[in-house]
Amino acid sequence: MKIIKAGYEILTAISEGGIAELQHIEKIGRVCYKSEDKITEDGESARKFVKMLIDRGHEAMIEHSSLSVKFIVDRGVSHELVRHRIASFAQESTRYCNYSKDKFGKEITVIEPCFFSPLSDSYTFWKHAMESAEAHYFSLLDSGVTPQEARSVLPNSTKTEITITANYREWRNFFKLRTAKAAHPQMREVTIPLLAELKKKLPIIFDDIIAE
Ligand SMILES: Cc1cc2nc3c(=O)[nH]c(=O)nc-3n(C[C@H](O)[C@H](O)[C@H](O)COP(=O)(O)OP(=O)(O)OC[C@H]3O[C@@H](n4cnc5c(N)ncnc54)[C@H](O)[C@@H]3O)c2cc1C
Repeated sequence: MKIIKAGYEILTAISEGGIAELQHIEKIGRVCYKSEDKITEDGESARKFVKMLIDRGHEAMIEHSSLSVKFIVDRGVSHELVRHRIASFAQESTRYCNYSKDKFGKEITVIEPCFFSPLSDSYTFWKHAMESAEAHYFSLLDSGVTPQEARSVLPNSTKTEITITANYREWRNFFKLRTAKAAHPQMREVTIPLLAELKKKLPIIFDDIIAE
């Protein structure tokens, strides 16, 4: 059994300073106001214009965008991610993946819970439960059942990879909900650093969202 930490990877290429992405929204948004004459090549007009859209709540304009992120999280977190109906998803399937195969190292992979200290009793209890689940999963496969049947004993901590594609408006809604204190700690473990990285790479769009 492999134990790994949760993580993410931004799959969409973002231009230098995120200016091309803002200019794309500006080009579309200025149609509303017929103010295309105010566009400047250096991206300054785009920064101001997109900020104005967000400040005014004219967020429909930032739907003309796309951002894909791959999350490496446990199945519990992925159940929460897929509740975001406006987004599109592609997820590692426990129906089709057979973790007894060589390409998976003949073992299951689980996500280390960020709230248990590796030296604590809680961690030891969790680890034993994972090892027991893995042993039963392999026993089921050995008995001849299919991966989609054996998966019924896989734990919530099973690692999954899930790619989410959504527009910036949906990502804004996502970050407001999923970086908040009320969100699950394992959700915040990945969303808070992701939001911070996006703020650095893509100005304006997420600037007003403060992770508590
Ligand atoms: C702290 C927390 C606790 C939660 N606890 C639970 C729980 O105990 N049980 C549970 O079942 N879920 C729970 N959820 C999930 C929650 O109910 C939502 O399903 C999830 O957060 C997705 O939010 P959303 O609808 O805003 O996102 P999306 O589905 O991505 O929707 C984005 C936005 O589009 C609009 N929209 C989408 N669909 C509609 C629609 N049909 N009608 C009108 N407007 C729409 C809304 O403005 C919405 O905010 C919890 C979420 C959080 C953050």
